[in-house]
Parts: sequence; C-alpha cells; structure tokens
Amino acid sequence: MSDSPYIEFRDHGRAWFEDVIRNHYEEALARANSLLDEATVDENGCYVTETISPQKLRFLGRQERAYRFIFCLFNHYAANSTEVVRHRCNNRRCINPDHMQLGDHRENHWDDVDFRANGVDFRLI
Ligand SMILES: [Zn+2]
Repeated sequence: MSDSPYIEFRDHGRAWFEDVIRNHYEEALARANSLLDEATVDENGCYVTETISPQKLRFLGRQERAYRFIFCLFNHYAANSTEVVRHRCNNRRCINPDHMQLGDHRENHWDDVDFRANGVDFRLI
C-alpha cells in the first residue's frame, strides 16, 4: 500500500506552539517572564494584567492570549485549537500558570456555572 488512507491534519495552533517550544523557547520564556513581572499580584495569588479583557501578545507572527501562551510554555505543552486553558481562579485577566488547567469548551462552561453557584475556594488552587 503506497497511498496512505490518512490525511495529515495540521492544527495551526498546535503547530505554532510546537515551533515556539522547540525553536524559540528562550525568547518566549523571556517574554512570558516580562508579562508576569508587569502583572499585579492580588491577595489570591492571581497575576492580574492591566488590560480590561485577557491580555494578548504577538509572537512569531501569531496573536495569542497571554495566559494561554504562558500556560503552554511553562508546561511544555502545544495546545491545539479545541483545547481550552481554564482559569481555576475564574479571573480571565490572571496569567499565573499555577491557576490554570487544560480542558475543553464544555468544562470551561461548567467552570462558569460552578463559579456563579459556589465562588472560588483559593485554598484548593
Ligand atoms: Zn488567578
């Protein structure tokens, strides 16, 4: 069988993160650390950016949310487009990688429901 029955699917988000992590890690890490330095740490340990909505950055020709960039970088993880980086602290302006967790859109939705019902217990983060 010379023809492969499989079509290779290249997820652009994942390909970009793979490139960043493999080939531009030092530069990306410096960028992430400067974002963390600029953020304000609140009483919950959240690293909150000055922006109104989640902060974005441009790196290697792609615009990405800063929290997603930092999470993937610190965990050496190339997230694909369907994966969501969730905020366990429910503060979308927070870029503390320890407050984030990988999930999908469905889980992200339930996070919101749970937060409205129960709030956040920061002792558990
Ligand atoms: Zn946080």
